Amino acid sequence: MMIQDISPKIFHNEFHNLAPRPQDFVLAFNGRRLYSKIEDRGEAPSVSLPTVNQIEQSLEQVGPGEAGDVEQATAEATQHAAEVSHDENGLRDHYESGNTANDRQDYELVFLFEVDSDRYFLMLPKTGFEDPSPAIPGFAFESWISIRAFAQQDIKLVAATGLQLNKWYRTNRFCGACATPLERSTKERMLLCPNCGNHVYPRINPAVIVAVRNGDKLLMTRYAAAEYKQRALVAGFCEIGETAEQTVAREVMEETGIRVKNVTYYASQPWGFASDLLLGYVADLDGSDCITVDKNELSIAEWVPREQIFEDPDNTSLTRQMVIDFKEGRL
Ligand SMILES: [Zn+2]
Repeated sequence: MMIQDISPKIFHNEFHNLAPRPQDFVLAFNGRRLYSKIEDRGEAPSVSLPTVNQIEQSLEQVGPGEAGDVEQATAEATQHAAEVSHDENGLRDHYESGNTANDRQDYELVFLFEVDSDRYFLMLPKTGFEDPSPAIPGFAFESWISIRAFAQQDIKLVAATGLQLNKWYRTNRFCGACATPLERSTKERMLLCPNCGNHVYPRINPAVIVAVRNGDKLLMTRYAAAEYKQRALVAGFCEIGETAEQTVAREVMEETGIRVKNVTYYASQPWGFASDLLLGYVADLDGSDCITVDKNELSIAEWVPREQIFEDPDNTSLTRQMVIDFKEGRL
């Protein structure tokens, strides 16, 4: 079951220009950490995300850093409460209208996607402000490794895709052509330069993963400098002007000195943790099976017999899916 396999739930990535409702979920990141609550790390772990309502209440209690002037803050909060109506349009105005006193104008919530009827919003700091730090009991900024380990299937997909969009929004604040601040399109998931008309779409990096077969053995690798220490398959990014099949042959040659034939498409997988679209291929050894390891990229590359392949319990990745399929004779 790969990360995108959340059936019977359905991931809706269509863009809508929606205002957040109190019950919608918020993805708040601190670097690659996601604000969430991990429950029961043992038998039946699960990960919860905060709602808009919880975030609102938490940040109201903390306030935007004006602990010194309680009287003024209280007066402003009263005035603010009178101004904000909590229907959808009211909430949208609340986030997007100028400089209302004591308003939480240091962040805004941007619609991301839906899973079934659940809506997910990204919490983005406004230009020039630090990330707000919500303080909801039991919640903390958890690493994506913890999310991968403990989250239910749909939350893994939500977290990975949210992380990808979070990176895209935060690294595209200004136009690369004329340095004007970019504006968000209200019609599609796109950033628009109001000065020169430059359009910026979410970045997706195509990359290949290759299962090279040599009879009863599979070509497996271990990366020199990665967090992931399990055995993996040859993988690499597509270069400009190259087909995915050419990438397969080039990467296998570069990393292991092996030639391949019968390059056949297997499946693809979105991998938002690294902004990748992974393209899985199967290939057969062509000629000598003598491996020359590229020590810059890999620490180990070797032919592993089917019966010696270790089954990693985390099978959310395309790599694990291909390895398991080989081990069980389906590849
Ligand atoms: Zn521009």
